[in-house]
Amino acid sequence: MIIGVLGGGQLARMLAMAGYPLGLEFIFFCPERDACAAPLGEHICAGFDDESALARLAERADVVTYEFENVPVQAVQFLSERVSVCPPAAALGVTQDRLREKHMFQALDIAIAPFAAVDSLDDLANAVKHIGLPALLKTRTQGYDGKGQTVLRCTEDLEAAWKQLRGVPSIVEAFIPFERELSVIAVRGSNGETAFYPLAENTHENGILRLSVSHPGDPMQAQAERYAQRLLDELAYVGVLALELFQVGDELLVNEFAPRVHNSGHWTIEGAETSQFQNHLRAIVGWPLGSTAPSGYAAMVNFIGTLPDSAQILTEPYVHLHDYGKVSRPGRKVGHATLHVASEQTLNAGLGKLLALSGVNHKSA
Ligand code: AMP
Repeated sequence: MIIGVLGGGQLARMLAMAGYPLGLEFIFFCPERDACAAPLGEHICAGFDDESALARLAERADVVTYEFENVPVQAVQFLSERVSVCPPAAALGVTQDRLREKHMFQALDIAIAPFAAVDSLDDLANAVKHIGLPALLKTRTQGYDGKGQTVLRCTEDLEAAWKQLRGVPSIVEAFIPFERELSVIAVRGSNGETAFYPLAENTHENGILRLSVSHPGDPMQAQAERYAQRLLDELAYVGVLALELFQVGDELLVNEFAPRVHNSGHWTIEGAETSQFQNHLRAIVGWPLGSTAPSGYAAMVNFIGTLPDSAQILTEPYVHLHDYGKVSRPGRKVGHATLHVASEQTLNAGLGKLLALSGVNHKSA
């Protein structure tokens, strides 16, 4: 069976690595000649507006999926008329517009931060009167890894922030003084069967994920699963979905969801019975899902910009290194390492060493 993947980055690469043992083959579709997934399959190197190339993909692939949510919806619609595309285009449309996403959360009675749509500086000033400060201004579209958003601390910040985001349609939302930032990776099969991985606790630096620690048996698990289940069912979803959450007291507020495999689920490669990548493939191919049960405790550290010395990282015996084969560049995710052990105590002891080797300031993480 041939899987078409829109995008050729590390998520596409790890999908392929999970799919080969199952006998699956891969075609990656993206305009980047040096895509890091390309060596793992066939590469259609073309723009997402190239209909003849998209038609070629549709003809060859049995099912098409995507590894990033900013893939043009027109390309997905064009493909959907010719081949099965999972997750559904509807999920993509919602996550490409923060305002639509917020409205969907409200309709599903999912708790979120107070927010307002803003289309002008006047709107922004009025919204801030109701929502209060500090707050965040976020563009409705094209935001990822902390891009397209800025913090508002005082009323004097508003004009500069509005200009910084170029006056595009945006939302303003209350800054949440969360105790923990969490995510749940959920998966729904083509028959409606669902499964959830243990929550991960996430730490970001400059808006980019730096550290994810799995939390089997976390008291917030059931609440997170309830919210994820509502989204999966509403969207008649097929594949993996990641839901990002803020914990305040014993309440969860949803930040956003990603209709794809997710960086905060990389620990599942070693730390769960079936990885998020394999379960995504099982779902979109129409096969039964694998167990999402944790196999011990896991923590994942992202390498951003440059990869530390591999031999140094591997001095820790329970560390698993993933080098994406990408050229170093500031702000770029070039690899990750997962520490996978049998007990929480061992995890905490080993994590300090891994963070130090990875150049992460443990206190800020
Ligand atoms: P986002 O692009 O919305 O995922 O935001 C990137 C990161 O900014 C999140 O992972 C949080 O760490 C932080 N952030 C986003 N929205 C809020 C908020 N309303 N309150 C506090 N922190 C936030």
